[in-house]
Amino acid sequence: MDRTQLGKMRIIFLQISTLITAGALALTPGNLLGQSAVAGFGPGNPFFAPSALPFQAPPFDKIKDADYQPAIEAGIAQKLDEVRIIADNPAEPTFENTFIAMEQSGRLIDRVMNVFNGVTGANIDPALEKVQETEAPKLAAMQDAIYLNAKLFQRVSKIYEQRSSLHLDAESLRLIENEYQQFVLAGARLSDSDKAQLKKLNEEEANLSTAFIQKLLAAAKDAAYVTHDKQALAGLSEAQLAAAAQSAKDRKVDGWVLPLQNTTQQPELQSLSNRATRQALFEASWTRAEHGGKNDTSDTIARLAELHAQKAKLLGYSNYAAWKLVDQMAKTPTAALKFMDALVPAATAKAQGEAKDIQALIDAQQGGFSLEPWDWNFYSEQVRKAKYDLDEAQIKPYFELNSVLENGVFYAAHQLYGISFKRRMDLPVYNPDVQVYEVSDADGKPLALWYCDYFKRDNKNGGAWMDAFVSQSKLRGTQPVIYNVANFAKPMAGEPALISFDDVTTMFHEFGHALHGMFANTVYPSLSGTSVPRDFVEFPSQFNEHWASNPAVFAHYAKHYKTGAPMPSELAAKIKKAATFNQGYMLTELLAAAELDMQWNTLAPDAPLQNPDTFEAAALQKTHLSLSTVPPRYRSSYFLHIWGNDYAAGYYAYLWCEMLDDDAFQWFEDHGGLTRANGNRFRRMVLSRGNTEDLDKMYANWLGAEPGIKPMLKARGLEPEAVSK
Ligand SMILES: [Zn+2]
Repeated sequence: MDRTQLGKMRIIFLQISTLITAGALALTPGNLLGQSAVAGFGPGNPFFAPSALPFQAPPFDKIKDADYQPAIEAGIAQKLDEVRIIADNPAEPTFENTFIAMEQSGRLIDRVMNVFNGVTGANIDPALEKVQETEAPKLAAMQDAIYLNAKLFQRVSKIYEQRSSLHLDAESLRLIENEYQQFVLAGARLSDSDKAQLKKLNEEEANLSTAFIQKLLAAAKDAAYVTHDKQALAGLSEAQLAAAAQSAKDRKVDGWVLPLQNTTQQPELQSLSNRATRQALFEASWTRAEHGGKNDTSDTIARLAELHAQKAKLLGYSNYAAWKLVDQMAKTPTAALKFMDALVPAATAKAQGEAKDIQALIDAQQGGFSLEPWDWNFYSEQVRKAKYDLDEAQIKPYFELNSVLENGVFYAAHQLYGISFKRRMDLPVYNPDVQVYEVSDADGKPLALWYCDYFKRDNKNGGAWMDAFVSQSKLRGTQPVIYNVANFAKPMAGEPALISFDDVTTMFHEFGHALHGMFANTVYPSLSGTSVPRDFVEFPSQFNEHWASNPAVFAHYAKHYKTGAPMPSELAAKIKKAATFNQGYMLTELLAAAELDMQWNTLAPDAPLQNPDTFEAAALQKTHLSLSTVPPRYRSSYFLHIWGNDYAAGYYAYLWCEMLDDDAFQWFEDHGGLTRANGNRFRRMVLSRGNTEDLDKMYANWLGAEPGIKPMLKARGLEPEAVSK
């Protein structure tokens, strides 16, 4: 789920807003205006001009760490100059001299930041870290200088009002509406006094967010489970015990320490055979941020929820979620809530069935107690082992990385879209692990470059993601240069890279994002490729995951690396069956967290300050998700996504995208599956279109219907019969 680049972008954004609020740098646009000449930046800098390499690929053989900072500063100065010229233009505003001029502006900053983001995410060093810190507030100030420029907004509004009489094409109209909306959402329409008020609320929000993150970090650290009694840890593996001993050593305490992870359930809970330890560890997690004192988050989140509502009111919305969802596919909190409400009966019915099975197992073992949340994973793990156990050592020899890539990921894309791949050894890379492929279209024309950087390194962020070194735009005459990054274990020199099915799925997932970027065929860069809302961006990637287990594709890549023999069918069947295990619990805990997020962020501006525990209990009751054995995946008091990571009113998006991708795959199955005709239609109507049309219309036009939840429930092995729709 966290396989998206968005996570990384959010973190950078957060650093930016924190630094600005802290007044780390008193930067006004005035400091930068007219400062086009930046010391140390000239034709000798590899970012000075567009790269001469094919597809304007980054000249990594020429780029040195010292080149980034002068290029970024010159890029900011250039962009601000361009924006000032557009805003101050004495000529009447036109679509060309305002919108097209804006889309053309900032080429240098885009060129350098696309590469800088890629390298700092996957191959950082202390020098680059320093540049990141120094430049983050300057980049944030650049954004403010654009969206709070009153003269620029006047021009944008004027054209927005005239738009229907301008005889523009649909994509240009979308550009106008989209840009106008971004200005309005940022507060451009407010009076000066309201703007000042908004700025105050934004500052308080950023400060409270930072405070929440710091309190939570400290609270989670303090709440770790500590013991001097090895017996209490019975059931843990040698490796887990060694890690617990190491954690104790790191903290300079005796015995063993189990540090807490972000989620409610903790990984050790599936192995700990001592029930008292399970309960203690679970309760440490559940109450981590509610012990009173300086690391208790209750007051912080109560005020944050109130602030969210006040901010929404100032901006003219009935609640925070209504403001946040305007530019999303769901558009309104009502739509998101309706979607989630419809999933609840099937999810909770399945979870209750799973609870019964677990209770039966407890009784059969003469446990003599009733199932509690701290028991769930311990017993479900026993069920999983008995029914679905996948022996990784047995499976991995069938998943050799290059075979998965070329005979699986590339093969599926070729069957569906006709594209083909050729390794390029001549293009420079930022690390020897990176591979480059040139992608050609079905008619043989060059389409894109695709880089993959799959192996774990100490200087790489965790997880996996996709992004672009160069984005597609007809206006700018650029073709896509896309990359995928992951963290697979690197084999010893000369050994094959044998990966898990989870890693296989990650490859298909990230390649789905890559296809969205490579098939982009739009005029304007700001509407291109993956520049789509959060509740749509994971759809193409999750959709592409489905091909990993399509029988024709699976048979084509899952072959023993030594003998070339296909995977035995009973092993393949086990992989498929395991996908529906424990899904009642998993969907219910996700829904409970997503509903909590939405309930907090639909509070009315005049609602009194809430007590988080009371509010949470009532919210779960109201949404029929108050199951004693299935707690929310994150509790309000440690829900980092919504109070710390700018994901407020956005947690539903994971599930929303799942609805879209399962429904889309069902459409493929109903229309003949893996065929060029299906692929081409999907590419033409969805994958190539970026954000050039209302996304719910784009999706419904392609599907021929509104998206529904039945395929999603089926994919999780739940009973659609329990759904009223
Ligand atoms: Zn993703």
